[in-house]
Amino acid sequence: MAQRTPITVAKGDGIGPEIMDATLHILREAGAALDIEEIEIGEKVFLRGNSAGIEPGAWESLRRTKVFLKAPITTPQGGGFKSLNVTTRKMLGLYANIRPCVAYAPYVDTLHPKMNVVIVRENEEDTYAGIEYKQSRDITACLKLISRPGCERIVRYAFEYARRNSRKKVTCFTKDNIMKLTDGLFHKVFDEIAPEYPDIEKEHWIVDIGAAKLADTPETFDVVVMPNLYGDILSDVAAQIAGSVGLAGSANIGAKYAMFEAIHGSAPRRANQNLANPSGLLLGAVMMLVHLDMPEIAARVHNAWLKTIEDGIHTYDIYTEQNSTRKVGTKEFAQAVAARMGQLPEKLPAVSYHGAPKHTVESKSSTRAAEVKEMVGIDLFLEWTEGTADELGGQLEKLAGPDFKLVMISNRGVKVYPGGFPDTLTADTWRCRFMSPAGGAVTHAQIVGLLDRTGKAGHDFVKFESLCNFDGKPAYSLSQGQ
Ligand code: NAD
Repeated sequence: MAQRTPITVAKGDGIGPEIMDATLHILREAGAALDIEEIEIGEKVFLRGNSAGIEPGAWESLRRTKVFLKAPITTPQGGGFKSLNVTTRKMLGLYANIRPCVAYAPYVDTLHPKMNVVIVRENEEDTYAGIEYKQSRDITACLKLISRPGCERIVRYAFEYARRNSRKKVTCFTKDNIMKLTDGLFHKVFDEIAPEYPDIEKEHWIVDIGAAKLADTPETFDVVVMPNLYGDILSDVAAQIAGSVGLAGSANIGAKYAMFEAIHGSAPRRANQNLANPSGLLLGAVMMLVHLDMPEIAARVHNAWLKTIEDGIHTYDIYTEQNSTRKVGTKEFAQAVAARMGQLPEKLPAVSYHGAPKHTVESKSSTRAAEVKEMVGIDLFLEWTEGTADELGGQLEKLAGPDFKLVMISNRGVKVYPGGFPDTLTADTWRCRFMSPAGGAVTHAQIVGLLDRTGKAGHDFVKFESLCNFDGKPAYSLSQGQ
C-alpha cells in the first residue's frame, strides 16, 4: 500500500468539528493518502487553565508531522488567554500568510465578479509582534518591528508564489510616506528584489489609497504583499468583497512547518446545527495538498468543489433564490462535492496544480556589505508632570554638560521645545533629544554619565533609544515641527 503522509488535525470549537469532518470526508473520497493525528486545542484547553490553549503533547505531533490542518477555535472572553493563532505562527515560524480571495460569479453574489486576488501577508513582525508597554501613567506604546531578513523572505515568497501560479503582477502596500524607516525598509526591499523577476509586473501603493482601490476595483490587483497589520485587515476585506469570508482558505507557511485553515472563526451561534459552510477549510486543505506535493488530488478536490458551487448546491450563507438550486447542510454539501469527484466545472475556470514549491526563500542579507554604524546621540524619555516644556528644557540644558547638546524635546511626537506652541496637547512623557555638540560620535560612557546626572537630578526616565547614523546617514525620525 502507498505510504500515507502524516498530518496533524485539530477539530477546534463551534462549527469547527462539523466543517473538519466534512473536509476530511471529501479528502478521503478524493483518495488523499493521509495519516491523521488528532490533537485537542482551543476553548476546552484554555478553560482547563492552560493560557496558551494547546498542550505540550500537541506540539510534539506538530513537530513530527510539520503540517497542521486546523479548524477555527473559540478564544474565551476575558483576559489572560493568549491568541493561539499568533502563538502557533510564532512557535512554528510561519512567516507567510497566503489568502486567495476569488469571486465565483454569477453563482455567489459579489459586486466584483472578476476579482481574483491573493493577499500575501507578512505573519511574524510589525505591531502584530505584540510588544507593548505602559511607559508612564499617560502613555502606552507598541513596537513596530520590521526586519530586513523578514522583508526579504516575504517579498521573495510573494514573487515566487506569483511565478509558480502564473500570476502577472505583484503589488506592494506600505505607509512609507509616514513610517519612512519601518515601512520604508519593506518598500526598499521590494524594490531591490523585484528586478530578479523581470517576467512579473510590479507596483507599489501607499496602503490607504491602495486599500481604497482594492475595495473598489479589486480586479486590477493580482498578488498583493504587505506588512502584517495591513494584511490582517485587508485580507478580511478582500475575502468579504469576493463573496463571503466563509469561502476563503488560508495557508501559513514557514521554512519547516505549515498550517492551513479557513479565515473565518468558530461561529458558535451556528454550531451543531449542520448549517456551516465547510468551503473555507476545504480550500485551505486544497493548499495543504499542493504543499504536500499532491497536485492531482488538490485539483480533483478543487474542481469538484467548483462544480458543486456552479451546480447551485449552496449552504445557507451563500444561498439565494436566483443563484442556487438547493439549500444544503454541511454534511450534504460534503456529499455533493464527493459525488462530483473527477468532474470539472463547466462555466467557472477549472484549476490545475504543479506540485509543491521547490524554491528556497532564504534571506540573502548575509551577503550584503556591512553598514558603518555610528552612535551620535540619544532620545531620553522622561516621565515628568511638574511644569511646562520650557521649564523642563531649562533644567535639561544644564544637565547636558559638555558631552551633549539638548537638540529638542517632543511630546506625543510633536516638538514642544525650543519654540513649541502653547496649544499642543501634552501627556506626561517627554522625548528629550541629546546629541554630540560637534555632531560626531558619542560613547557609552558619555551616555551613562548623562543618565546618571539626570537620575540624580530627580528625573524619572522611562527608556532611551540610541540615535545612530548608518553609512553617515541619520537613521532616526525627526519629530513633527523639528
Ligand atoms: P466568525 O468568523 O466565527 O463568525 C462571524 C459570522 O460569520 C458567523 O456568525 C456566521 O454568521 C458567519 N460565518 C462564519 N463562518 C461561517 C461558515 N463557515 N459558514 C457559515 N457562516 C459562517 O467570527 P466571530 O463571531 O467574530 O468569532 C467567533 C469566535 O471565533 C471568537 O471566539 C473568535 O475569537 C474566534 N475566531 C477564531 C479564528 C481562528 O481560529 N482562526 C479566527 C477568527 C475568529
